[in-house]
Formats: sequence, C-alpha cells, structure tokens
Amino acid sequence: MYSISKKINILKQAQVAKNFFSNEEIIPSAVTPFTCCDCGHENSIEIIPYKSGFPIFQLYNEDKIVSKSELLQNKVVTETSNSMLHFGALTVNNLPTLYFGTDCQSCHSKYFCVFSYGEKQPGLTVLQISGIWKYE
Ligand SMILES: [Zn+2]
Repeated sequence: MYSISKKINILKQAQVAKNFFSNEEIIPSAVTPFTCCDCGHENSIEIIPYKSGFPIFQLYNEDKIVSKSELLQNKVVTETSNSMLHFGALTVNNLPTLYFGTDCQSCHSKYFCVFSYGEKQPGLTVLQISGIWKYE
C-alpha cells in the first residue's frame, strides 16, 4: 500500500469480489480479493479505517497525477453534491474518498484502489470500493 507521486495513465479495471461494506463488516478491516487482469492471480486487499489510504485530492490536485476528467470518464469518482463539497470536488458516494497503490503479487502489474469511508447516516457507516484499476 503506497501513495503515487508520478503522472499515471489509467488502463483497465480489475474485478473486485466485494465492493460494499457496512458497520461490523468494516471492523477491524474490510478485506476483499481482486483478480489481476494480466495474469489472473487472485490478490487480496485489506482496508483499515483511518489507517489505509491517502486523500484522493492528492491525485487530481492541479491534474498532477491524473486529471479530473480522466477520473470521471473511468467512473473512478463522481462530482460531489453541493452539500458535501467539504469532502472535496470528487468523491465516491459523497463521502471522504481515499486511494492507495498496490501491485499484483504474481506479475507485479501496478494497480490503484479508490474507496470512500464514513457515516452515511446516523448508525450507518459504510465503506465503498469504487474499484481497482491497472495503471502505468
Ligand atoms: Zn498479475
């Protein structure tokens, strides 16, 4: 799990077994396999609330790592609704949105994962994985 500091191109989306978690499913972490689109290896990702990930703002800030339009075209994020703009211009599910980089353990293809985490309504905390994309 690492941050990305150089410009990337989004290539294709990998299959994620489970992308939505709520309440107890997130304690102590959300775990799901994803399948490498190159070699078919089943990798596992573990997301620990408040520990995993880096603000997605770091990716689209001044279009430095990846442009806002590329993120929107690939449906990585959507435009945040007006009442939730304090979470940033682009989010998943109008909640605080984070990302991290990870590699296929078998062929070392590079991937990044985008997810959001937060209280959707009183008593309902959700973690939604938007997806995992191969990048170069
Ligand atoms: Zn692979």
